[in-house]
Amino acid sequence: MIVLRRYMNNNLRNFNYLIGCEKTRQAIAVDPLGADEMLALAEAQGYEIKLILNTHEHHDHIDGNPVVQQATGAPVWAHQNAAERIPNVARGLVAGDLVELGTIRLKVLFTPGHTMAHLCLLSENGGPNGEPVLFSGDTLFNACAGNCRNGGDPDTMYDTFVSQFQPLPDETLMHPGHDYMKNNLNFALTREPGNEMIQYWIDQVSAFDADEMPVMTLGQERTYNSFLRLNQPEIREKLQQEFPQLGQADRDVFKALRSLRDQW
Ligand SMILES: [Zn+2]
Repeated sequence: MIVLRRYMNNNLRNFNYLIGCEKTRQAIAVDPLGADEMLALAEAQGYEIKLILNTHEHHDHIDGNPVVQQATGAPVWAHQNAAERIPNVARGLVAGDLVELGTIRLKVLFTPGHTMAHLCLLSENGGPNGEPVLFSGDTLFNACAGNCRNGGDPDTMYDTFVSQFQPLPDETLMHPGHDYMKNNLNFALTREPGNEMIQYWIDQVSAFDADEMPVMTLGQERTYNSFLRLNQPEIREKLQQEFPQLGQADRDVFKALRSLRDQW
């Protein structure tokens, strides 16, 4: 399995992905907003797009579907909760479904929170060294969680983080739906000014263009992403000073961070 990532160079800073089987030269297009670019990429690399997968129903993830579908005949699959909101969905997926194409095996994770129809895709061992690979859409970003302002719910997103992401091993490679890493790291630093890993990664990526951003592991995310660090004393003490009424549960911390990020 090979992952080809393209940055869309748009205001929303989308990443599009082709997941290719090197044996059969078949590919899956994930959220192909840049339809022409993804078609050209598939052609240039010798892949035939056989399937379009949408992580969720937002327009910046589905608007390229018709052009890709017209050119390739590939069907559109998405979570069953999104089937009525995305035109032309041929198969409504649910948690645990296996998407198979050539040697590609992707497990469907149901990950509501950003929207109530969001899915992530997990390859158990599709990385270059056999690592798990996670396509996290707009649920888990580098150094942040997705927002819940357009059809989502922060309580549900917290549950998703605990049930779906917490069990994944540190070596899992992560492919999010947007490049917000620099901005998110700056937010993370406001929450945890004493965390040297945040400053380290700010320095590391400062000179990178969006299309050069590194692919991070979940283990690395766990060193700087506030939403994966709810028990860190510095995060909690700062929140407690700012919101003396705040509850002590992880859920309360998660929701407070999410609402701070909304206003940041
Ligand atoms: Zn979205």
